[in-house]
Amino acid sequence: MFHVKLDFENIVIGGGHAGVEAALASARMGISTLLITMEKSAIARMSCNPAIGGLAKGHLVAEIDALGGEMAKVTDKTGIQFRMLNRSKGRAVWSPRAQADKLQYSLEMISLVVAQKNLEILEDTAIGIITEHNQIVAVQTKKCGFITCKTAIITAGTFLNGLIHIGVKQKRGGRLGEKSALGITESLNAVGIKSGRLKTGTPPRIHRDSINFDQLTPQYGDKNPKPFSFQTKNFNPINIPCYITYTNPGTHAILFSGLDRSPLYTGRIKGVGPRYCPSIEDKIVRFRERTSHQIFLEPEWEDSYQYYVNGFSTSLPVDIQEKGLHSIRGLENAEIIKPGYAIEYDFFPSYQLKRTLETKVIGGLYLAGQVNGTSGYEEAAALGLVAGINAALKNRDEQPFFLTRSEAYIGVLIDDLITKSPTEPYRMFTSSAEYRLLLRFDNADQRLSHYGHRFGLIQHNQFLLSQCRKHLIEKSIRYLHQTSLSPSVINPRLADKLENPVKSGISLFKLLCRPNIHLADLYPLLPESFLRTFSKLDGLAEQVELDVKYHGYIQRQINLIKTQSRQEQIRLPDNIEYLKINSITKEAREKLNLMRPETIAQAGRIPGVSPADITALLILLKKQGVSRETE
Ligand SMILES: Cc1cc2nc3c(=O)[nH]c(=O)nc-3n(C[C@H](O)[C@H](O)[C@H](O)COP(=O)(O)OP(=O)(O)OC[C@H]3O[C@@H](n4cnc5c(N)ncnc54)[C@H](O)[C@@H]3O)c2cc1C
Repeated sequence: MFHVKLDFENIVIGGGHAGVEAALASARMGISTLLITMEKSAIARMSCNPAIGGLAKGHLVAEIDALGGEMAKVTDKTGIQFRMLNRSKGRAVWSPRAQADKLQYSLEMISLVVAQKNLEILEDTAIGIITEHNQIVAVQTKKCGFITCKTAIITAGTFLNGLIHIGVKQKRGGRLGEKSALGITESLNAVGIKSGRLKTGTPPRIHRDSINFDQLTPQYGDKNPKPFSFQTKNFNPINIPCYITYTNPGTHAILFSGLDRSPLYTGRIKGVGPRYCPSIEDKIVRFRERTSHQIFLEPEWEDSYQYYVNGFSTSLPVDIQEKGLHSIRGLENAEIIKPGYAIEYDFFPSYQLKRTLETKVIGGLYLAGQVNGTSGYEEAAALGLVAGINAALKNRDEQPFFLTRSEAYIGVLIDDLITKSPTEPYRMFTSSAEYRLLLRFDNADQRLSHYGHRFGLIQHNQFLLSQCRKHLIEKSIRYLHQTSLSPSVINPRLADKLENPVKSGISLFKLLCRPNIHLADLYPLLPESFLRTFSKLDGLAEQVELDVKYHGYIQRQINLIKTQSRQEQIRLPDNIEYLKINSITKEAREKLNLMRPETIAQAGRIPGVSPADITALLILLKKQGVSRETE
């Protein structure tokens, strides 16, 4: 017998990484929210590797935090190893990564959703949506029947018509050991939303006691790690190592011998997989010249008996997986607890979404996470949060929320989805963000916490803390600009650093622009009051130095954004008949008709739409009297 209320303002379907952020944001914004999920104990379960963050993904986590999501805080609280990646490169692309305790991570998220006011959880399977006049009005579930709503967010991950492959065996499932979800895809197709098939894969998990750790190279986290969340205090996590080993020509020969039973190479798998994250069988075929690939063993939780074999994602038959592992140094006796597998699942090509993640076809229906054609916990959580905020705003009859490419990696992610509509699982890369000098991990709170605060997702005192940091940075830079040193004071120090002397007074700012001069070199010359400012907030000095050193590039990016923002503001009417516009190319006509961009700037980013097409569109809009400011 269910005691569930049958009417909610917002319903979230699926309690994965997208679903929890969506449900929490919506409930915290005062909207009565129902989270329908197939298995309560699987909420925020990590399907694949036990890690959060990494290149560009770490930026996403910091942005989720600044907007008021939970992923960063929960990772800080439960992570078992933290490392800053890319330290040898420019500061803009430094990105944190944590080894997660996947059990504690999930438990912590469960406790948050269970305790959340305005949020109810229903353990059930959604099997369809009900619409009226192209608006969502209800969700149908297996056990409870119809539950009415004003908005719904689908975050069903890899579960929609999920099909698992191991060797020649196939089995329905959303993840190994969990059922797939039927009905949602068909229901969306019936209202005109198109779907496709994608594929992803995961490596085997092996038993700790069967690994010969003496033969492996340990890798620990940073000694002084940085937390993901700007709100985390007293950060002192444990530091549990991962281990490195390598495949060899013997391993590759074994894997080759199993290709005739590989679902990938025998054509059983039809869905497209992520090119950037190939399976081990893909790697040995595509990179035949390589005699070795790195394997990274990751503990799945603190004191874990289960290790994740990163780099060995495979859907080859289990006997080949086992033989292949046994040929690797340190894994000669590896005992498989769970085999690697591939999974095919339905997704909804993302050109069908607005930048708020609402579908263009059905009002009040939002899609987020893996169902949008993305891959990764961080991408899913970011999309879930944006969809949750927008569903809440829609319920409150308020203006929608979206982020631009110049504001956030999340803006880049969503813009890429709606203008490029990837046909293979999309993941975030730093190279995808053209304004990456502005979109740093370390300034995410200063860029975005005003939104989180406005939506009531960031506490006032946390917001003030972030504003205080911003203010102190600006004040320090002003001081560096305004304070000059005479040649007699600075030249001896420059000589110590083998730097050219100056002939007249020079500002501290200009000195700091020199690549070999660092803020610490100037400390003996700075007043006590200035140095006290830096001691107030952790990392402040580094941020000031970075802003000064990259000042020229940052200014150029800001100028570029100003030029381009005009095009971001020119709305394209919903009813524009692209197929009838003869002044643009046939390819542009077809692409624009399919993708139906919301602004001229989005249109310009669609592959196949040239600058000449954009000029022709602008002329047409002018003739039709569409003003620039129309929003
Ligand atoms: C085998 C495998 C390998 C992967 N490999 C990688 C990788 O290498 N790299 C990477 O970045 N990512 C990988 N991923 C993807 C990563 O797990 C996802 O990107 C991420 O979990 C997506 O989050 P999500 O919230 O969209 O969905 P999920 O985390 O999949 O969560 C979906 C949730 O929705 C629930 N649900 C589904 N349908 C319904 C329904 N109809 N009614 C009620 N509840 C429903 C499910 O029970 C589940 O709790 C892999 C996933 C799998 C399964």
